[in-house]
Amino acid sequence: MRRLRFDHRDGEGRADPAGDDQDPAGPLRAGARPGDAFRPRGRRRRRHRPGAAGLGGAHRAPSGAGRAGFRGEPVKLPLHGRCFCGAVLVEAKAEPFQVSWCHCRDCRRQTGAPAVVWAGFRSEDVHVAGAPRRRRSSEHIVRGFCPDCGTPFSYEDDRLAGEIYIHTGVFDEADQLVPDRHAYVTSKLFWLHLEDGLAKFETTTRRRPG
Ligand SMILES: [Zn+2]
Ligand SMILES: [Zn+2]
Repeated sequence: MRRLRFDHRDGEGRADPAGDDQDPAGPLRAGARPGDAFRPRGRRRRRHRPGAAGLGGAHRAPSGAGRAGFRGEPVKLPLHGRCFCGAVLVEAKAEPFQVSWCHCRDCRRQTGAPAVVWAGFRSEDVHVAGAPRRRRSSEHIVRGFCPDCGTPFSYEDDRLAGEIYIHTGVFDEADQLVPDRHAYVTSKLFWLHLEDGLAKFETTTRRRPG
């Protein structure tokens, strides 16, 4: 909760796409709301450690700050991505403002993977070539994918204007897109062990307006 407040206060914590849709079956803690940081009961709270591995730039200005990538190296730009068949291409001229694991059931079902990692960008920094098919997966969420090979590609939320989230796995530079948080940990598969010390959120990492 405290960390989340920080996220909101500085106005730089974007959202995480992640977890798009609601997660009705998720065992949310009583009183928990989207954006609340997940705190396992009976454990001491982990303090935010600026500079800790994987956290570089997580709460700083999204552009120009030099988000730390693999082994702390600055993210090299532009980033290039493509779907499996190459019909859909993406280029990002700025680094993502956040990179978040998502353990929600919708991402899992849509990709067939046990979890996904979304890189969040300002829409204006991303150019998508080709013609990805866009499909509304819930009231506010539109997911893009290649109509030819089916590669899941993007996530956009009507309530998060000017933002687009791209699967890190489609980027040539995926190594540089180091995750800095986890979304929807209440839906995480129990056999998936990711003890990386990153911030955990019960659902989304930012509350949607309205
Ligand atoms: Zn998700
Ligand atoms: Zn394709």
